[in-house]
Amino acid sequence: MGAKSRFTASCDTSPRWDHLQYAILDSGMHELAVTQSMVNLVLEEARKGNARKVKKINLVLGELSGVVGDCVQFYFGLMSKDTIAEGATISFKTVATQAKCRQCANIFEVKESEWICPECHSVSVELVAGNELFVESIEVE
Ligand SMILES: [Zn+2]
Repeated sequence: MGAKSRFTASCDTSPRWDHLQYAILDSGMHELAVTQSMVNLVLEEARKGNARKVKKINLVLGELSGVVGDCVQFYFGLMSKDTIAEGATISFKTVATQAKCRQCANIFEVKESEWICPECHSVSVELVAGNELFVESIEVE
């Protein structure tokens, strides 16, 4: 870690921030940010509902969101420590990538990045599902 931070010595941010940035880049920035906002949201909702404990978080994850469930699970373990969400389970609902054809209105599942309508072979298609990333619900007590 110490050696890596030297590469950004010309940067005018504080050394502590350099370390933090590298820690994030090393271990998947996307999931870290996603998990942080998820934890914030869950704790806020739990507080609003006067919950004593968060038991379960139902997360909807589109294939195209680029978020790896295992990483979210890992960060959640760290970030939820000493909060009422500690020990909560995360249920991942994966949403397949779907597109709609602009020519014939056919809706189809996109496999291996084949953005072609299987009915009329048009490439004029739009995304209708697959980039979801949100907390559907939480279970508290
Ligand atoms: Zn079509």
